[in-house]
Amino acid sequence: MTELLFRDDSYLTEFKAKILTIEENAVILDKTAFSFQGGGLKSDTGVITTPEGVEFEVTKVLSQKGKILHFLNPSPSEDLVGKEITGKIDWERRFRQMRMHTCLHAISAILYKKYGVHVTGGDIKPEKSRVDFEIDHLREERVKEIKEAIDKIIEKDHPISVSYIRREEALKNLDLIRTKVNLIPESIKILRIVEIEGVDIQADGGVHVKSTKEIGEFIPLKTENRGKNHKRLYFTVKP
Ligand SMILES: [Zn+2]
Repeated sequence: MTELLFRDDSYLTEFKAKILTIEENAVILDKTAFSFQGGGLKSDTGVITTPEGVEFEVTKVLSQKGKILHFLNPSPSEDLVGKEITGKIDWERRFRQMRMHTCLHAISAILYKKYGVHVTGGDIKPEKSRVDFEIDHLREERVKEIKEAIDKIIEKDHPISVSYIRREEALKNLDLIRTKVNLIPESIKILRIVEIEGVDIQADGGVHVKSTKEIGEFIPLKTENRGKNHKRLYFTVKP
């Protein structure tokens, strides 16, 4: 099992860890600050350096059957097992993903509060993200309304907190029920809760900024009609 350092400190950019094993072209570490692909987010990239100063590029990080695989270029060799390495994540890329991700949660809260609709999907990338939801139309004035609401949330600089609660408790919380906490596999007994104070609360495993001002500016890019009650919004954050 790899300890997931990013779950409690999403601002950690450098860390020391031990290589436990090698599978395929990937190393498994005792702990990591690299966040893996999932929940609509792409994985981190970065560099791993051995005590001898040999550098490996981390091209992607995946979670497979409970194992966190850090894929390296060049491919790692068996003699790396047991070594203490230094990991450094590509912070520029990571920070953009954190900003996009928190922004996506704020959008989902606004859509529910203003229009009573649910988000059905999302894809977060460092450059451009998208969110899908069940709504009848997304004409210009409505996009403007959403933008104004998000601007206000950013302006107010709401703190974002991470906590852990038992599954039974989560199932009693109305806000968590709305975000479909019941769909999380029953094998998970303790849930990680991410709260944008006063705005949104969800069970979530991903990386977020520490307060909404860090999002920067929310910029809607374009909308797409994907069906009767299915609309898509592309957006980015600035700077
Ligand atoms: Zn999320």
